[in-house]
Amino acid sequence: MHLKTENMISIKLDINKVLRNVINKKNQYTIPIFIPHEGCKNECVFCNQRKISGKTTSATKEDVHNTIEEYLTYFKDKGKDIEIAFFGGSFTGIDSKKQEEFLKIANEYVRLKRVSGIRLSTRPDYISPKILKMLKKYNVKTIELGIQSMDNEVLNISKRGHDILSVIRASRLIRLYGFNLGHQIMVGLPGSDKEKELLSIKRVISLKPQELRIYPVYVIKPSKLYDMYMEGSYIPLTVKEAVDRVYYIMKELQNTNIRVIRLGLQSTDEITVGNAELIGPVCDNFAEYVFAKMTRDEIENKLKEKKKNIDKYGCILKVITNKKYTSVIIGPNRINKKYFKEKYNVEMVLEDKGE
Ligand code: SF4
Repeated sequence: MHLKTENMISIKLDINKVLRNVINKKNQYTIPIFIPHEGCKNECVFCNQRKISGKTTSATKEDVHNTIEEYLTYFKDKGKDIEIAFFGGSFTGIDSKKQEEFLKIANEYVRLKRVSGIRLSTRPDYISPKILKMLKKYNVKTIELGIQSMDNEVLNISKRGHDILSVIRASRLIRLYGFNLGHQIMVGLPGSDKEKELLSIKRVISLKPQELRIYPVYVIKPSKLYDMYMEGSYIPLTVKEAVDRVYYIMKELQNTNIRVIRLGLQSTDEITVGNAELIGPVCDNFAEYVFAKMTRDEIENKLKEKKKNIDKYGCILKVITNKKYTSVIIGPNRINKKYFKEKYNVEMVLEDKGE
């Protein structure tokens, strides 16, 4: 295509700045070990662990060992860090003997330098100095807290069984004992809204976690939330609403060093998917929609600065950027390209800044 320069607007897009909380993610392999929380006494409305009793099986020492060995055979890039991750929600709530058995196996791999670290996820009310001392002994590096919300009413309606004070206390203790701190939060919990989620993220930021996972709430069948959905007392977010909610959270994070390590569902996380049905903002490329919206924002702001030209011409919008991120900038289903065409009658093209 021959482009006349008078019909072209050029802008520079620093994608590393826009997506700094996600791009700076560490390049590493993870060995996920799912530990179903046997005998969890809680009844979080979105969880189906209690409802599918009989379908979850207990992990054994052999399972832990075999899973680690199996994953180690897959990893080809010797330069990457390898981390063993105990997922399943409430590691420090399972039988303490069992915790130590699992950690002993994992720590042996750390000791032999076959893996670089251990992480686990748990609940804020299952953290104490005694537990942290034990985790230190086995070289656990990162503790992720499933906090879900920093609003007591939302925690209450969601039947989380802890309040925000226990989150504050646990987060401080984890940092005090020298662990990396991770938080997991949800958007679209019953009783929640955009304002409560924005307040929550501000409270999260004040606790200085190094990492964050953000999940939209899905209704899992069977679960208490599914019953609420059937009765009409809970309406799940649409994909668009969930993308918007997460987008606003990401904007709050932009001036922090908190790394967002997950956006959207992962079957090994606190919600057990199993064979259950999912209802709500289920979308394979959920994170890409959020990133595309963030990128679009930045492009649009720069475009508005040159708006006088747009009024005059249907023109070419040349975005000079790192083309490695083309799919994010164009957006899934070319959503950003279509947006600029429809709203401003400009044709977005990318040019590699050549770095
Ligand atoms: S989400 Fe975690 S803490 Fe809540 S009921 Fe399920 S397993 Fe228990």
